[in-house]
Amino acid sequence: MIARRHLIAAGGLALTSCASAPTRARLGRVVVVGGGFGGATAARYLKLWGGADVDVTLVERNDAFLSCPMSNLVVAGLRDLGSITHSYAGLQALGVRRVRGEVVGINPGGRAITLADRSRLDWDRLIVAPGIDFMFDEIPGLRAAIDSGRAVHAYKAGQQTLALRRQLEALPDGGTVLISIPGSPYRCPPGPYERACLIAAWLRRAKPRSKLLVLDANPEIQSKKALFERAFAQHHAGVLEYRPNSELKEVLPDGTARFEFEDVKTDVLNLIPPQRAGDLVRDFANVNRRWVGVDWLTMQAQGLAGVHVIGDAILSASAMPKSAHLANQQAKLAAAAVLQLLRGEAVNPAPVVMNTCYSFATPTEAMHVASVYQYDAAEKTMQPVPGAGGLSPAASEREGVLAQGWAENIWADSLG
Ligand SMILES: Cc1cc2nc3c(=O)[nH]c(=O)nc-3n(C[C@H](O)[C@H](O)[C@H](O)COP(=O)(O)OP(=O)(O)OC[C@H]3O[C@@H](n4cnc5c(N)ncnc54)[C@H](O)[C@@H]3O)c2cc1C
Repeated sequence: MIARRHLIAAGGLALTSCASAPTRARLGRVVVVGGGFGGATAARYLKLWGGADVDVTLVERNDAFLSCPMSNLVVAGLRDLGSITHSYAGLQALGVRRVRGEVVGINPGGRAITLADRSRLDWDRLIVAPGIDFMFDEIPGLRAAIDSGRAVHAYKAGQQTLALRRQLEALPDGGTVLISIPGSPYRCPPGPYERACLIAAWLRRAKPRSKLLVLDANPEIQSKKALFERAFAQHHAGVLEYRPNSELKEVLPDGTARFEFEDVKTDVLNLIPPQRAGDLVRDFANVNRRWVGVDWLTMQAQGLAGVHVIGDAILSASAMPKSAHLANQQAKLAAAAVLQLLRGEAVNPAPVVMNTCYSFATPTEAMHVASVYQYDAAEKTMQPVPGAGGLSPAASEREGVLAQGWAENIWADSLG
């Protein structure tokens, strides 16, 4: 392969194309941005289904894959960060070219992306899976509190996960912890309630005089409501106090969290900010300037030829949560559609995706919710399939084992 180097004038800047840009495969070049659940799965399935006919490049800012699923167990001291960190070697072994870098621009008309080091990658189709970013502007003082380390979000896995763990370990026995839950939609609707259960169980054992306050901007628990209510009452009463309709309004410089009706000062502040599509696709967020609307047959962003968006960044269909499982499913839908479009074939007119989401109610017992969604040609969206899916009758140790197995399986399916 002969390395190519182009100089392209754009906006007054000389942009250099990646020196190692691949030669053109029969079907063309697909660039995938974001190596989380959505992007990694898309890159893997493009290669599994497209083989040598398609050039696949994955651009990701991090050196390794960090999993939010199971990160609440790291927060609670039940796993270490290494166990939720995975390499991209499986994708590279399949022939996915990996570029480590920050994508700073998408040029749909010019069919190119630009990286922070000014290099440029050209594509025939682009799949973007940047996850979420936080709406710090909504809550004065929140960004400063998180930047200073006074508060943590732990809602993107990695250093934030470890920071929350360390703050819990440093908590004096008799101290207090606050979890603030943003209004929906946010990624992983059951995630904050699972975290509350696991932190409460840990406090009861390790800091028995401590308390956990959970203040929820929503009017009620957002997922597995009856199961979480039972877990709160059966296992965590006396440690965990849950209050709905409590929206965080401001964080003061001294760490006071200001809610609509009360000021709260605790030792540990886990403030989960309101969320929107990742910064990279902000200009394409056509729904409330927050989420990217897509064509569900191809995952192509509305009005953006050649650009497919998947995962947490999109406007979810009715009753569809933002989850790793669905990002993985949407990635397969996008990979199949991209290959069909590159081949000049018709795309699947009736795609189906599914979701299973496990949550731990105690360190060993978990429960799940499952759902199936099918394309509705009349409404041009995905609709839940009535009667498909279901909910655990109760949390159990057996499901605790299945939850760990689900994580191992989705890591393997996304990364190889
Ligand atoms: C505490 C917690 C627990 C969860 N538990 C579950 C669970 O049990 N089951 C489940 O299904 N889901 C769970 N989720 C939700 C799940 O993590 C997300 O839905 C999933 O990660 C979404 O995948 P994604 O590909 O859209 O985004 P991500 O997985 O966040 O991936 C986005 C990637 O894009 C990269 N990126 C972003 N912008 C750029 C850029 N400009 N340049 C280069 N790279 C970029 C990021 O570094 C990141 O790697 C949980 C989430 C949390 C926070």
